[in-house]
Parts: sequence; structure tokens; C-alpha cells
Amino acid sequence: MKICKQCHVEVEDDVKFCTSCGGTEFERKPLIPSKKIVDEQPEKNSKYAIVSTWEFLGAMLLMCIPVLGWILLLVWALGGCRKINKRNFARASVILIVIGLLVSFAIGLVAKVVVTKVMEENGIRISETGGFEFDEDSEIGQMLEGFTGNELQELMDMMEDLKELNGGEEINSEQLQQMMESLRNSQ
Ligand SMILES: [Zn+2]
Repeated sequence: MKICKQCHVEVEDDVKFCTSCGGTEFERKPLIPSKKIVDEQPEKNSKYAIVSTWEFLGAMLLMCIPVLGWILLLVWALGGCRKINKRNFARASVILIVIGLLVSFAIGLVAKVVVTKVMEENGIRISETGGFEFDEDSEIGQMLEGFTGNELQELMDMMEDLKELNGGEEINSEQLQQMMESLRNSQ
């Protein structure tokens, strides 16, 4: 289509004379209608309304409330608020929380695997009751044979105290043996 320069009527490309005024000069019709960019703030109760700084702050503070905050966040993320921007903000927050949970879960899993491996190498297992079990023939197993969890804790505390008395130096195995002997004798 082209436009008659004289009367601005739109005519077919192949016509020589304007069908409206008979004019012979035409101009190309713009392919894309020029669009005026509207830079206006949306209406206050429009769903496109701007979320103000204070609204963001309020929403973030509400999100910090245990349980209630999480429920609110889910409600917003599912579209249970008027403003689209607030919904999108809630969605982004949910995604961030899920990523955070997955990452910490993965770190926990790796840590568990590493700790379990180190423990296994040293003949230590975690029993069904959650306590520690030692292979009897392992070095640590022989050393700690017959000690209960509480006594082990006591031993650890003693080691810490002794380390402090030693001016921060690690205690040697001889001192450890002595401590364990005294613990055994006190039973
Ligand atoms: Zn014309």
C-alpha cells in the first residue's frame, strides 16, 4: 500500500492515479506505525502500579516472620496480591530460598560423606542410637575401649584444659594415656 501525497488516502501499490483525488504523487506507507512511547505512571489501583520502597521494605519485614511470613510469601508468589511487581518479587524470593536450601542440603550431604569417610578410615562408626562405635582393633578403638559417651566428653574437656595449661600446645599421647588411666580408675 502507498499513500497519496495530496489527500493522504491509502491506495494499492500498482495504481498510477489516486482513486480518491486523481493525484499522481505517492509516498511509501510506513511499515511499522510509529508508536508513541508512553512514560506514564500506572493508576494507583492498577495491577501495574509501582511498588514503593516502603512497600518493599514492609513485604521484606513480613517475610522475616517465621511461618506467617512464609505463608504470605507463598500467597504473594501465587498471585494473591494486586500488584504484579510484588508477585514477581515474591516469586524471585521463593526461588532464592529454594536455591539456598538446595545448596545447604548439598553442602551438608558432602560434609556428611567426608566426615563418615574420615571416621571409617579411623575405625569409627555412628551406632543406631546415635553414639559412636569403634572398631576394637583400630588404634582409637583400643584407646577408647569401655568409655561411654559422657566419659568421652569428659575426656575431651580434660584435653582442652590440659592444652590450656600447656600454653596452647597439643597434648601428647603419653599424657592422653595418663588421663585415660585416671578416668578408668575413677569409674
Ligand atoms: Zn489523492
